[in-house]
Amino acid sequence: MFRRTPGAQWRALGQIITLVVVLAACSATPVAEERMPREAEPTASPTVELIAQPTMEPTAVPEPSPTAAPRLSDIRPNELGDLMVLEYHVIGDEELRWTRTREHFRQDLDYLHRHGYHLTGLNDLLDNRVRVPAGKTPVVLTFDDSNRSQFQFIVDPNGDLKVDPSSGLGILEAFIAEHPDFGRAAVFCVLPGADPPNDLFGQPEYGRQKLQYLAQRGYEICNHTLWHANLAEVGEKETVRQLALTTNTIQEAVPGYQVNVFNPPHGVYPEDLRPVLAGTFEGVSYRHRAILEVGGGPMTAPDHQETDFLHVKRTQAIPVVLENVFRHFEEHPEDRYVSDGDPDRVVFPARLTANYRPSPDASEEPSPDPGYRVIRLR
Ligand SMILES: [Zn+2]
Repeated sequence: MFRRTPGAQWRALGQIITLVVVLAACSATPVAEERMPREAEPTASPTVELIAQPTMEPTAVPEPSPTAAPRLSDIRPNELGDLMVLEYHVIGDEELRWTRTREHFRQDLDYLHRHGYHLTGLNDLLDNRVRVPAGKTPVVLTFDDSNRSQFQFIVDPNGDLKVDPSSGLGILEAFIAEHPDFGRAAVFCVLPGADPPNDLFGQPEYGRQKLQYLAQRGYEICNHTLWHANLAEVGEKETVRQLALTTNTIQEAVPGYQVNVFNPPHGVYPEDLRPVLAGTFEGVSYRHRAILEVGGGPMTAPDHQETDFLHVKRTQAIPVVLENVFRHFEEHPEDRYVSDGDPDRVVFPARLTANYRPSPDASEEPSPDPGYRVIRLR
C-alpha cells in the first residue's frame, strides 16, 4: 500500500478500508470556525498559568540555598525507572488495529497529563538530558507512516495554512495549548516516497512545509524508509538508497536537520545493522543513533544498564495494551521513571544501584538523603 510500484501489499484489506474511511472523514471535515489557540502567542489565560506547575511549590521548610529546592523524599525521583514510548498510526473515526480514534487519542493525552507524565522527545533521551519537571515522568509519542490523518493542513478564510484541528497533530497542539505544563514533543516517522495517503502526510503540495512546521515547532522527524520497504527483502544497496533519499528529503526541507532515529518498517531488522546505522548514497549521508522496535512494552531509562538505543521498545496505542500498561504504572509507581527536575544529573533510589550504568564523565555527588544516589552528568 505504501509502495509506488504495483503489486506491493502491506497490511490486510481492512487497513485499506480504514484509510479510505479516514480520508473520507478528513476531506469531509468542514473548516472549523473557531480559531485554534496557537501556542506561540503569549496569550495563555491566567487560570492556565495558575495550574501550570502545581508540584513545583517549595515546601515551607527554610532552606539555606537561594532556590529552596524540594526534598528528594518529597519528589521521590527514580531516574532508573521505566517510561513509555507510545506508538500511533492512523488517527480516525473508528478504533481499529492500526487506528486510534480522535476521541481516544484526546483521552490518552488527558490521562497522561492527569497522571504526571510530561511530553519528551527521543533526542533528549539519546543525549541523556531529560528535561522534565521534578516529579514528572517522561512520555514519548511516536507516529508511524506519515499518514494524512496525523497531520493535515487546511486553508483558513484568510488564505493561511493551519493545522486541521481534527488531525492528530491538531488534537495534540490544541491539548498542549490548553495544558502548557504538559510540554511539547512528538516523533514523526516519515515515508517520503510512499503512495497517498502516506506520502509525507498525504498532501504532496505541502510535504515540504509540513516537515518545516514539525521541525520549527520542536517535533522530531524520524526515518521510516522511502515507501515502507521490508529491509529483509530489499538488500543492502537498496536499504542505503532508501535511507539516504529519505534523509535528503528531510534535509532539503529543513537544512541541517540531524535525523537521529530510524524506524524499520514492519519492525524488521536486517541481520547486519551497520547499513541502517550509517551510509552514503549519491553524496547524501545519514547516521542514526537509535532504532525503534514495533513493540516490547515500556523502555528502561537512559542510565539503566539494560538500555539499548538500537532496540528502543515501544508500547502500541491500542486499547488492551494501553489499559494494561497504564494500570501497571498505577499499581507499581515504584517502577516508573520520576524526574528530579535537573537534566544534568541522575538521581535514583540507592536500592537500585545495581541497575545503574555509569556514563563516562559522570561523578557522584554527596546526597542530601541517604536513600538516594545523586550522579552529576555534566
Ligand atoms: Zn510503519
